[in-house]
Amino acid sequence: MKDIRSMSLAELKEEFASAGEKSYTASQVYSWLHKHQASSFDEMTNIKKELRENLKKIYYISDCTIEKKLVSVYDETVKYLFKLNDGELIESVVMKYKYGRTICVSSQVGCKMGCSFCASGIAGFVRNLLPGEILSQVYTAQKDLGIKISHIVMMGVGEPLDNFDNVMRFLELISDENGQNIGMRNISLSTCGVVSGIYKLMKKKLQLTLSVSLHAPSDEIRNRTMPVNSRWNIETLLKACHDYTAATNRRISFEYAMISSVNDSDDCARLLAKRLKGMLCHVNLIPINSVKERDYRKSSGERIAAFIKILEKSGINVTVRRTLGSDINASCGQLRRGEK
Ligand code: SAH
Repeated sequence: MKDIRSMSLAELKEEFASAGEKSYTASQVYSWLHKHQASSFDEMTNIKKELRENLKKIYYISDCTIEKKLVSVYDETVKYLFKLNDGELIESVVMKYKYGRTICVSSQVGCKMGCSFCASGIAGFVRNLLPGEILSQVYTAQKDLGIKISHIVMMGVGEPLDNFDNVMRFLELISDENGQNIGMRNISLSTCGVVSGIYKLMKKKLQLTLSVSLHAPSDEIRNRTMPVNSRWNIETLLKACHDYTAATNRRISFEYAMISSVNDSDDCARLLAKRLKGMLCHVNLIPINSVKERDYRKSSGERIAAFIKILEKSGINVTVRRTLGSDINASCGQLRRGEK
C-alpha cells in the first residue's frame, strides 16, 4: 500500500491517468487531502463511491492521531504526542505568537545524532517520517485547535537533513497553493550540522530560513557535546554556511544553547564572534532546557548578558529565544519519541 498523502499533484495525475481517471478527479482528491485535510476517503463526498473503494485498495492516507495533548498554563503552548499508523510515537508543539501560530514538527521517529543535551535521541532512532506523516502533524493540530497555522519550524524530533527527500517533498506539499499554501519565508529548518545536506539544500535555492545548531565555538567543546562534529567539524560547517548564504542570499540563524560552565565563558563568546565575523547571520541564544536524564544547567542571566555584550561589540546580531511551554516539557530539545 502506498501513502497517497505523500504524493505530489503531478504524481497523482499520472497514476490517475494510467487508471483511466480524469486529471480533474486527481485534483479533487488532492484538494480533499491537502486543502480540506481529509484523513479518510469517505470524506471525499464529490468523488464517486466506486472510485473511493478502488482508491482504498491501492492507497492509504498516512495520519497521526492524538495520543496525548498538554496545554501550558503559562502561554497556551500545546504539545501533542501523536501516534502514527504503525503505532510509533512522535511529538509536535503549537506556539502562539503575535503574528500567528507556529508548529514545531518532527521529521523522524527518534534521532541518530546523539547530541548530549537533547532528549530526542535518548530512546534511539526508529525510522524516517514520510512526507505525509510530517504533513499530518500540521493537519491534525489545525483540525483539533480549529485554527490555521501560519509558520512552521522543523525543530522537533529528528534531523531533517538526514531525511532529505521526504522533507523536501513535505516542503513542496505544505507550500503548495493547492494545499495549505504556507510560504517558504514562514518556514525554518534546523540542522545539527549535516554538511552534505546543507549543500544539497543550497542547490534547491529555497526561501526558507536555515537554522544551524552550533552550540560551541571550538571543536574541543563541540566534539564533547555533538557527535556530528567528528564527521564535519566547525570549520567545515561554517564554510558550508558561508557557501549557503552566498548562493541563496539568505541569512543563517545559529542556535546556541547556553550551558553553565560548558560553553558560556567570555572566551567562548570571543571565539564565537571571531568565527562568525562578516557572515550574514543571526545568533539565537537558548538558555538550555532541562532534560531529566542529563544534568546540564542553564547559564545565569548575568552570564548570558555578558555573552551578548561581547557578540554585539563585534557587530553580531543576537537574540535570546523565549522559552515557551516550559511547564509541559515542550521547549527546545525536550521533544521525544514518546513519553509513556
Ligand atoms: N536535529 C535538528 C533539529 C532539532 S531542532 C537540529 O539539531 O538542529 C532542536 C533545537 O533544540 C536544536 O537547536 C537543538 O540543538 C536544541 N536543543 C537540544 N537540546 C536542547 C536543550 N536541552 N535545551 C535547549 N535547546 C536544545
